[in-house]
Amino acid sequence: MDDSPSALNQFAAGMRIIVAGAGIAGLSFVIALRKQRLTSCTHITVTVYERDPREVSIEREGYSLSIRSDGLSGGMQALNKLGLLDSMPAASYTGSQGNAGGFTLWDKDWNEIMKMKSSPIEGLPAPSMRIARNVLRRMLVDAVSSEDTIHWMTTCTGVAQLPSGKVQVQLSNGQVDDCDLLVAADGAHSRIRSILRPDDNLSFAAAVCIAGNSRFLSGVPEPVNRDWGCVLSGNGTGLFVSPVDQHSAVWSVSYLAEEPRKRMKPPLSNQDIDCLIRESLDRGKSFAQPFRTLVQATDPSTLMVLNAVDKQPFSHAGRNQKPVSVVFIGDSNHAVSPFAGNGANMALMDGWELAEQICKSNSLPDALAAYDASSMPRSKSTVRMSHWSIALAHAQGWKLTLYIYLLRLVKLFF
Ligand SMILES: Cc1cc2nc3c(=O)[nH]c(=O)nc-3n(C[C@H](O)[C@H](O)[C@H](O)COP(=O)(O)OP(=O)(O)OC[C@H]3O[C@@H](n4cnc5c(N)ncnc54)[C@H](O)[C@@H]3O)c2cc1C
Repeated sequence: MDDSPSALNQFAAGMRIIVAGAGIAGLSFVIALRKQRLTSCTHITVTVYERDPREVSIEREGYSLSIRSDGLSGGMQALNKLGLLDSMPAASYTGSQGNAGGFTLWDKDWNEIMKMKSSPIEGLPAPSMRIARNVLRRMLVDAVSSEDTIHWMTTCTGVAQLPSGKVQVQLSNGQVDDCDLLVAADGAHSRIRSILRPDDNLSFAAAVCIAGNSRFLSGVPEPVNRDWGCVLSGNGTGLFVSPVDQHSAVWSVSYLAEEPRKRMKPPLSNQDIDCLIRESLDRGKSFAQPFRTLVQATDPSTLMVLNAVDKQPFSHAGRNQKPVSVVFIGDSNHAVSPFAGNGANMALMDGWELAEQICKSNSLPDALAAYDASSMPRSKSTVRMSHWSIALAHAQGWKLTLYIYLLRLVKLFF
């Protein structure tokens, strides 16, 4: 059998693809497809529609991401395949530090309970990195070839199957655009998923976060200037902290709740800002310094209330989805809450793997089945793991002792 790329990818030849969303998954897919097209899969055209402008505000992108290389994440490997890993670690927060830091669990007095550092992986310049989300996005945007068009500030508002078998996308500028394959990469609150899979909604993962971005002219206070992770109060209040760059850090105070709370996004009124700062200080009153300093240094334009939400992934192979020529990648398929710390890693992997399968497989159903086979298990495990993280962050009494004991055992053996 001739298994050369040109013989295997006939179905993709001449294909026109629309990508909805130039976030992490959408950009990874576009860059990956361009790389694949250098050797195979020629004559595919790609158009991207993105709701936001090219430069996004700090309110939306002001946090940092942990990109890793362990079996569940694979973000470092995906960036390596995309050809971006030579420059990215140096642009990351950990790469620009003498001491790279690591994921840490602290007690409420900031005594280290345990610290996790990844082992080096052959072929990668670093096993993991902590990178500001806006830096990662900018580097991905810059890596998109000028032959692939991104239409900024253009939202995909509707989608329909045409009798010809093509998919028609309606746009916020009043125009429509037709394609052979629509890649829905429009994030957790995907408009395309809400149209095509109206019953496939996000679930509340029983935790509410009040979060903000703190600024320090003279540098982020220790130990948040180096390490990131959870501070365990043992009384039901969770705290996540992480450096973003030399002068800013994110914090998130969280608590368990039966119902989601009203989502609050910037810009907030002065009254709301005061109430949220007071509530955060009160909920976290058992945390020692630098908690108070972090909260008091919050840039008000970044303060928000968000509910931890997620959803199980779904397969494209079952053909219960109409139209069939739509594939969902990243959060639009398997949204996870920040407690997972893995959504961006999966988005990078999804983008790479879908592009690879489109160019390697001999039909669209085969490509989607192969994509599902690798994407679904890691996203199911990630959702499970994130629920465990929520339980740990808010554990009290003997439960917390048990979790810490189990974590130490896991660290010892793996
Ligand atoms: C506070 C916080 C901390 C996190 N920490 C980590 C971490 O440490 N590690 C990690 O791996 N993950 C982390 N995540 C998760 C990660 O950010 C997401 O999982 C990831 O961004 C998902 O990528 P995506 O491309 O699927 O979606 P997004 O990045 O949300 O991109 C979707 C894009 O689609 C655009 N869009 C939306 N609707 C439309 C439309 N109708 N038409 C056109 N465009 C549209 C949006 O503007 C956006 O650019 C964190 C998330 C948060 C909120």
